[in-house]
Amino acid sequence: MATILPSPPKIGMVSLGCPKNLVDSERILTKLRADGYAMSPDYAGADVVLVNTCGFLDSAKEESLDAIGEAMAENGRVIVTGCMGREAETIRARFPGILAITGAQAYEQVVGAVYDAAPMPPSAFLNLVPERDLKLTPRHYSYLKISEGCNHRCAFCIIPAIRGDLVSRRPDAILREAEKLVAAGTRELLVISQDTSAYGLDLRHAEWPWKGAPVRAHMTDLARELGKLGAWVRLHYVYPYPHVDRVIPLMADGLVLPYLDIPFQHAAPNVLKAMKRPANEAKVLERLANWRSICPDIAVRSSFVVGFPGETEAEFHYLLDWLTEAQLDRVGAFRFEPVAGAAANDLPGAVPEEVKEERYARIMEHTALISAAKLQRKIGRTLDVIIDAVDAEDGGATGRSKADAPEIDGEVHLRDAGHLAQGDIVRVEIEDADDHDLFGVPLI
Ligand code: SF4
Repeated sequence: MATILPSPPKIGMVSLGCPKNLVDSERILTKLRADGYAMSPDYAGADVVLVNTCGFLDSAKEESLDAIGEAMAENGRVIVTGCMGREAETIRARFPGILAITGAQAYEQVVGAVYDAAPMPPSAFLNLVPERDLKLTPRHYSYLKISEGCNHRCAFCIIPAIRGDLVSRRPDAILREAEKLVAAGTRELLVISQDTSAYGLDLRHAEWPWKGAPVRAHMTDLARELGKLGAWVRLHYVYPYPHVDRVIPLMADGLVLPYLDIPFQHAAPNVLKAMKRPANEAKVLERLANWRSICPDIAVRSSFVVGFPGETEAEFHYLLDWLTEAQLDRVGAFRFEPVAGAAANDLPGAVPEEVKEERYARIMEHTALISAAKLQRKIGRTLDVIIDAVDAEDGGATGRSKADAPEIDGEVHLRDAGHLAQGDIVRVEIEDADDHDLFGVPLI
């Protein structure tokens, strides 16, 4: 006699904010899948919808509230988690019908809320453990979170208030996860945290055994071991502490991608001081020159805030001049926005909105020129490119060079590439460039 299996409840997920939040969403979904729940790609098919929110800026909060509103309108059975969980009253005031609200990293609470909202029908067949963790990124790249929280107290940031002080994962646990991801098809590991260069400080850089040898909970050791797994390894959110210099030779040796994502935020000493930025005393321009002498291909991406309270026209000009000297490969800019609870809100010298807009336009124009000139110099070169998408109809493909992180940097657009597949890493001859992207043809 055939056994009729009950259908498991279906979960919908809306994940907002940064890659760190995306990793949290993946963990929650992995746990739910391990418990036998199914996933729904749309609101209509979901028994309950999880909204993992971002509360970094007021604009991100509004976006989170909009997403909650949409999930309530389309489905009506909604659980909220993530950074906005600490503002439960605001959410409940606007959406009294929310089933539950939990905070960032509260995995057990959010999973418990799902058990309550959509209980699993009893069946021995449903509680199957999935073969591997669920991912919200394409199969060929994965974010790898190495720590949570942050020991700094930058004046514009409320992350430490939301996520607490630095808590690093054990290096062997990170390496095991990375190894599993690579075995499952990941070709690029994107290392993320709030402060990657501080990794292991809370563990006093203790050693753990890994494949018969000790590995320290330290950025350099971790980067070296990750580099041995055979995938591209890209380091995000690195601050220019002196020990970062020791990672550059690993880049020159090809173990780690020649790429550093360093959120400098500003260059003028007084602004950096007011921002309370970590490692702001470092002689960054000298360090950059030194890194480039060791690893000429290193690509440096950064982000900057314009219109921080007290920023004068002279200090903004200093930043533009600094950028001319620094010749960064990729730059993102933000207009200063007061975030509820951030210390910067009380600083004197608020910059008028129209001045912020004008400085924002100037920094974007300035950095686009630098980027365009740097990309022009790549025409005629042959670069390794990882393929993100292939268009079978027009025979083209889109990928990224080692200098480009997914979602935030530029792309390489390929012609005559219909034979390639997502995740392939191929040699590409660069034929053209614009302000942010490259164009080329694969050599296979
Ligand atoms: S380093 Fe500064 S900006 Fe980054 S998470 Fe820590 S406090 Fe926030």
